[in-house]
Amino acid sequence: MTKVAIIRCEKNAERCPLTNCFKSMYDGINGFSGYDQGCRLVGVMTCRCPGDNVSALAEILNKKGAEVIHFCTCAFSKKSKDGWSLGQGLCEHMDRIVEQAARASGLPCVKGTAHLPPGYAPEVVSIG
Ligand code: SF4
Repeated sequence: MTKVAIIRCEKNAERCPLTNCFKSMYDGINGFSGYDQGCRLVGVMTCRCPGDNVSALAEILNKKGAEVIHFCTCAFSKKSKDGWSLGQGLCEHMDRIVEQAARASGLPCVKGTAHLPPGYAPEVVSIG
């Protein structure tokens, strides 16, 4: 089993208990469909605007045993009456913070958890 961690956006922290993120992880679907042997959660951290804490969070998750870090889908996609679509998510700095997390932790960082927009394959950022 692959040990995974999740970094969520503070803008959703008071509204969303990550129910569908956890369900997708347990079911091995959506952002977590690439793990042949399944995955196990080692921790969840919350990014705070403007994302200056994300490097430290990623380092902690690495020390806690994470092998991959996932960023929640709501940070880079938006729900409308027609479903989820890419863009206009909660975070304007998504590419920067994902890159920072990958650089600080040395771990692959995946954009995506639950409810992926149609046609979107989870983007993986690996550095080093
Ligand atoms: S930097 Fe982006 S992901 Fe982090 S809290 Fe702000 S909007 Fe959310």
